Amino acid sequence: MSEKSDLAEEVEYADYRAQKRHRAETTPCHWTDDTDPDFNVWRTACGEMFTFLEEGPTENKMRFCCYCGLALVVVPRPPDVLEDDDA
Ligand SMILES: [Zn+2]
Repeated sequence: MSEKSDLAEEVEYADYRAQKRHRAETTPCHWTDDTDPDFNVWRTACGEMFTFLEEGPTENKMRFCCYCGLALVVVPRPPDVLEDDDA
């Protein structure tokens, strides 16, 4: 039988949260808008995809990745990737 007090569990959890926060602050999750702009699909560094109805993560006030929980950093689309041929 393992006898772990509530306090020990609380301390462990606080430690876990501190580690997680530290990781979030030091290694952010980069979101890239590298797909068809018509669909507004964003690729996340943790290997997921996310679609916004309008605009991007910044405009939608997303500060953390909803998949991995790390700080969300937007990677701007390189200008040479932009293809605007329906003008
Ligand atoms: Zn992520």
